[in-house]
Amino acid sequence: MIEEKEVEIEENLLAKAAMDRIIKDEDFLKIPCKNVTKEEMDTPQIRNIIEDLVSTALDLDKANKLQCAGLSANQLGYNKRIFVIKMSGRYKVFINPEIIFANKTRSSTEGCFSFPGRQTTVDRFIDISVRCANQSGVKKLKKDKAIYFQHELDHLNGIAI
Ligand SMILES: [Zn+2]
Repeated sequence: MIEEKEVEIEENLLAKAAMDRIIKDEDFLKIPCKNVTKEEMDTPQIRNIIEDLVSTALDLDKANKLQCAGLSANQLGYNKRIFVIKMSGRYKVFINPEIIFANKTRSSTEGCFSFPGRQTTVDRFIDISVRCANQSGVKKLKKDKAIYFQHELDHLNGIAI
C-alpha cells in the first residue's frame, strides 16, 4: 500500500511540473502557429517538439485528477502547427492538420490546461475527415476524437477557450 501511495505522489508531482510548463499567456496563445515546412519535417528540431508534446501529455495524463485528451505545440511555447491527441490510449501526432469534411454538430463543454478552472461550451462537429502532413490519406474522426481534434486545431489557429 505504501508503495502504491508513493507512486501516486510521484505521478502527481510529474503532472504538476508538466502543468507548470503549460503556457497560460493568452497573448501568446492568440498567435496563429506556422506550418511545418517540407525541409523542417524530419529535423531534430521537429522531433524534439513531438517528443516534448508526447512526454508532457503522458505526465499530465498520469495524475489521478487530470486527463490529457490533447496538447498543442503552442501550449509548450512552440509556434508550429503540431498537436497530439489521445486515441486508443496512445498519443497520435498531427503535423499541419486540416479538416477537409465536417458534418453534424453537438454542443461540447470543454476545459483547457492553459486556462485551469475555466469551462466553455462551444458547438463542435462530431463527424470529420482530416489529413495531415505526417500521415498519408484521409482519416475519419467521430464524436470525442473529432472534438479533441477541433479543440487542438483551434489552439494552432490562435483560438483559445
Ligand atoms: Zn486547450
